[in-house]
Amino acid sequence: MAKYREQLQGMGFGYDDVTAVAYRKINNIAFIVRVNPASKEYNVTAACRPAKDGMIDPLRTALHQFASQRQNMLKTAFFEGKQIHICYQITSDITPGVNDAVNFIMYCVNQFECTPCCSVCGRYGDVDVYSIENNVSALCTGCYGTLQNNVVENILSDSSIRMNYPMGVLGAILGGICGALIWILFSVMGRIGWMAGLVAGFGGVMGFKWLGKKISTAGIVLSIIISFIFLFMGMYIAAGIDMYNALTAEGISVTFRDALDLIPYFMQDSEYTGTLIYNNIFGIITFAATSIASAIALIKESKVKNRSVKLT
Ligand SMILES: [Zn+2]
Repeated sequence: MAKYREQLQGMGFGYDDVTAVAYRKINNIAFIVRVNPASKEYNVTAACRPAKDGMIDPLRTALHQFASQRQNMLKTAFFEGKQIHICYQITSDITPGVNDAVNFIMYCVNQFECTPCCSVCGRYGDVDVYSIENNVSALCTGCYGTLQNNVVENILSDSSIRMNYPMGVLGAILGGICGALIWILFSVMGRIGWMAGLVAGFGGVMGFKWLGKKISTAGIVLSIIISFIFLFMGMYIAAGIDMYNALTAEGISVTFRDALDLIPYFMQDSEYTGTLIYNNIFGIITFAATSIASAIALIKESKVKNRSVKLT
């Protein structure tokens, strides 16, 4: 691919390394060149169409003739309504083919009065080449704005996948429950389960994305709240177990439910509350750090995936 990039850049094309697409505006017509080594071909497209409908058939005939004269090196040449496409078989040097295609398209532009047009809506006018969610196309500013808005809405997602909200919530609940169970387990073993905060923080956000297929900013906030509620419940149950053990050790007969109910009452005692905070603060800090780190990682990943840039 590096070889083709150098060849295209040598011809004055810009080259986008992320999508491996070359682009150039010649006399206001946006050209896009895609090299596809897998299918052994490269495509030259130009976003333009005849200003008069009567010129469409002659343009198609000219492209057909052009293709039949070059049968051994050319795969197809056609006009599909908004763009002229010319597709060549790949060779070690694609420069002659790209030149040939560009020259012929410029000839067609003059001969059949083609005007630059948007490759999405087809409107005549100024177009530029943009890369949106790694799709490179020649767009008018209106279509770019619309697609760009969709990207912002789907900033955390692949637009081809639908988010399943209920399953995402279930994923966040499962992540939170895992954190809560680990917290209770560590507490029973007499240790501070900072790892539980890690599991709840990571599991909540990633559990949402895993079962919900994708996640939005609202989904991130919701999953952090849900997993925290479950982690908090785990912490409360662990405190209840401590309370139950402490009271029965002193010979006071209580049920586990009583022990849970006594926690708010005991919290009026600052020493008890101090110990409770000390026992739980590490879990809450690791939870906050991990859930924020998970959210940032997801946003960063999606920004790379969904980047949108103007290329020309
Ligand atoms: Zn448009």
